[in-house]
Amino acid sequence: MIIVKAGGNGELDIDAICTDIAGLVDAGEQVVLVHGGSSETNRISERLGHPPRFVTSPSGHTSRYTDREMLEIFAMVVAGRINKLIVERLQQHGVNAIGLCGMDGRLLEGKRKSTLRIRENGRLKVLRGEYSGIIERVNTDLLRTLLSAGYVPVVAPVAISYQGEGLNVDGDRAAAAIGRALQAEHMVILSNVPGLLRDERDESSLIPLIQLEQVWEYGERYARGRMKRKILGALEALQEGVGQVVIADGRIEQPLRSALAGQGTVIR
Ligand code: ADP
Repeated sequence: MIIVKAGGNGELDIDAICTDIAGLVDAGEQVVLVHGGSSETNRISERLGHPPRFVTSPSGHTSRYTDREMLEIFAMVVAGRINKLIVERLQQHGVNAIGLCGMDGRLLEGKRKSTLRIRENGRLKVLRGEYSGIIERVNTDLLRTLLSAGYVPVVAPVAISYQGEGLNVDGDRAAAAIGRALQAEHMVILSNVPGLLRDERDESSLIPLIQLEQVWEYGERYARGRMKRKILGALEALQEGVGQVVIADGRIEQPLRSALAGQGTVIR
């Protein structure tokens, strides 16, 4: 069982990823693909006249403010356009992909975070009407049913709250939640970098191997911005039964095969 997260801000070679998935499925592997879409959501929300609003928490973390309108745009982009384009591409490669988001069949369920505490112009404020959350439950029955019938689930990072509201969730952590729930052997996080780098601007500074006990330390030391979430996702996955996580380059030929052969940052 392999969980693949494909992000990359539009820089990934989707065709190459689909070719690899087709090869793995032919070889009898079960694959779940989770994707992202925040950069395309930013672009489209600008064009719709509802530009993204980024806020800073009191501890200094930056995040997106997902009000109701932004949630609907996010769902439209990730569960609509991106998800369906990936399904289309996989179908062209002979893979019977099925596109879902976490609301479908309550695939990804979690607690809504409805307020955000932020710091703005030096003042603390509370923003209401937020639609994001952390995944706490995965409908593994649904995934196993699909996988055993030969489908490849393609999952968009929209979850559902216990009250039935859509939630914007992080794709890396959604992949980690699915990996944990299915006790996957492998999780591969494909991005627009070769892996975790010692120096973000120097692609030759790749860290090839991290032991589980050192993940936190490496993350704190080297990961900035959104790379931190990948490290956090890796840690969550490994602590709860995923065999191995590889953060790898999704822009190259045979990206998945290379990652599974150990190219990238292997964490175990
Ligand atoms: P994705 O869209 O693939 O989920 P993100 O943009 O969320 O990717 O995260 C990957 C980004 O993290 C890279 O493009 C890079 O700019 C940034 N980054 C920060 N610190 C590091 C690091 N130490 N090594 C590699 N990338 C890093």
